[in-house]
Amino acid sequence: MFEKVIYLDNNATTRVCDEAINQMLPFFGEKYGNPSSMHNFGGDVGAYVKKAREQVAGLVGASDPQEIIFTSCGTESSNMALRGLTDPRKKHIITTKVEHPCVLNVAKHLEKNHGYEVTYLGVNSEGLLDLDEFKDSINENTALISVMWANNETGVIFPVEQLAGIAKEKNPEVLFFVDAVQAAGKVPINVKDTRIDMLSISGHKIHAPKGIGAIYIRKGTLITPFMQGGHQERGRRGGTENVAAIVALGAASEQAVKYLEDEEVRIKQMRNRLERGILENSFNARVNGSRFKRVPNTTNISFEYIEGELILLHLSDLGICASSGSACTSGNLEPSHVLRSMGIPFTAIHGSIRFSLSRYTTDSEIDYVIEKVPAVINKLNSISPFQSELRELKEIKTAMKS
Ligand code: PLP
Repeated sequence: MFEKVIYLDNNATTRVCDEAINQMLPFFGEKYGNPSSMHNFGGDVGAYVKKAREQVAGLVGASDPQEIIFTSCGTESSNMALRGLTDPRKKHIITTKVEHPCVLNVAKHLEKNHGYEVTYLGVNSEGLLDLDEFKDSINENTALISVMWANNETGVIFPVEQLAGIAKEKNPEVLFFVDAVQAAGKVPINVKDTRIDMLSISGHKIHAPKGIGAIYIRKGTLITPFMQGGHQERGRRGGTENVAAIVALGAASEQAVKYLEDEEVRIKQMRNRLERGILENSFNARVNGSRFKRVPNTTNISFEYIEGELILLHLSDLGICASSGSACTSGNLEPSHVLRSMGIPFTAIHGSIRFSLSRYTTDSEIDYVIEKVPAVINKLNSISPFQSELRELKEIKTAMKS
């Protein structure tokens, strides 16, 4: 076992911050009341849920905390947005080919079992959408548009605020949902200044525990509750509140706002240094996705002609945690649907590694990774079955440098 783990897999999940842990603990002990109870013992607990709702509203820039509904995770929030459609006449949904499975698989389900037509927009080699194609895809039957803010695999950012504006101009009735699970805490979000109707976040991606999420639903947006049950969350999501996790999400949201500048400055610098260090010392490395329209903490690097899983195992032996594509699809060796949609060659997709940093990442950890990765790659290059391709690539890179 390693004395220290260098955790660069923060898009998969994050360490729970001390503020979240400390503030949630009393709700496993003395503060065990039910926030729906009439007595003060429960009512007092309700006050903490109220505060957490305000803190989450602060993170996403909602004008009214009542627009925040607590859910169990980002996946539930996406399900709520997509399955909650109410107008039986409108049967068209638009999304993108690079969404997380919690959107893609729900869209496929609605297409297969509920008579919806779904447009899956493609991306270019940088992972970006074509805005004209987006606009052209909207018609009078479009019920919902679901576009992620930041991609979990590449970190590439879609201009969702602009897209929501374009969409509403073309069809004012269309609902615009944003999966902001990988954007929250990494870039500023201000839903009140946008035309976004719904937006999801997930606790475990922003240093809160697993099993808690939220969805912003703009006042006046018609959505059928996905979880039928009691009157909790004003009848929009039944089920007794997970108070401890809600309080932790509130605390983590407040911290996330405080750390936004750290993301933009320190974390981005570390990510860029890591990327440069790897690219300069590994001739078969290339970055996947736009290097400019990206969240600050993520880099997705392909090491051509070697296997990503082998790289991960070697890095893991050195105490370095990274990921080959999204955590939800690991254990499944299908090449990444995101990188495939970008037209990345298979020999590069198979060797793709995602490094994702957090506020807990340090400069000395980055130094260590910059030192170790090229050594691992050199070793794996020497046993790759693609020796002539690697030689050719090396010659090209050397010629480009000189
Ligand atoms: N959306 C994106 C972009 C994600 O990266 C993830 C998780 O990786 C999810 C949604 C799902 O969130 P959760 O794990 O909370 O269900």
